[in-house]
Amino acid sequence: MYSSELSEEQVKQLLDEREWTNQFTKPQARDGYKFCARCKLEQPTTEFTKDKNRADKLKRYCKTCCKKEREEKRDYHRTQSKAWREANPERFKERRDAWSTKNRLQENERLRVLNAKRRRVMKADAIVEEVDYNEILIRDNYICYICGDIIDMSDVQFDHVIPLSRGGNHTMENVKATHKWCNQLKGDRLMDEPW
Ligand SMILES: [Zn+2]
Ligand SMILES: [Zn+2]
Repeated sequence: MYSSELSEEQVKQLLDEREWTNQFTKPQARDGYKFCARCKLEQPTTEFTKDKNRADKLKRYCKTCCKKEREEKRDYHRTQSKAWREANPERFKERRDAWSTKNRLQENERLRVLNAKRRRVMKADAIVEEVDYNEILIRDNYICYICGDIIDMSDVQFDHVIPLSRGGNHTMENVKATHKWCNQLKGDRLMDEPW
């Protein structure tokens, strides 16, 4: 370390001198070889990753050393962030909650878009009321209105008898219980149309 009494100019000079002596003490690698600045071993240039920002277009460290360095850095950051979490549990919780709020907003946005798309499918004058699916099931006696068979609860779906895209309403009257399969088969057809 340099004393604080040295001027900026003097520091620069000292650094230049060190660079100068380094140039002469550095061993010269054989052709097609290079010294790794970390493990100090002379290795074939193929053992070095390319680096277009450096004079010899190769990284200072050999591939093995680069990997070691990455792992060390990673371990260091892991330890650091773990230590931070343990030292600041409150702030960690804040950050985590902020993150999940952000996700929740994203989820709401997704639903908004989905609903807007659905709305576009409906006719502008469609009637929309809140539908009680449990009540529909009881009303329909757990019977699929398409095939007339009983519906297992793992296989239930609700269908707009007159599809929304064909001017149907989202009302108790127009929503009936079906099998998933039957509903899929029916698609956007009306019941009295050929299947
Ligand atoms: Zn190395
Ligand atoms: Zn059915």
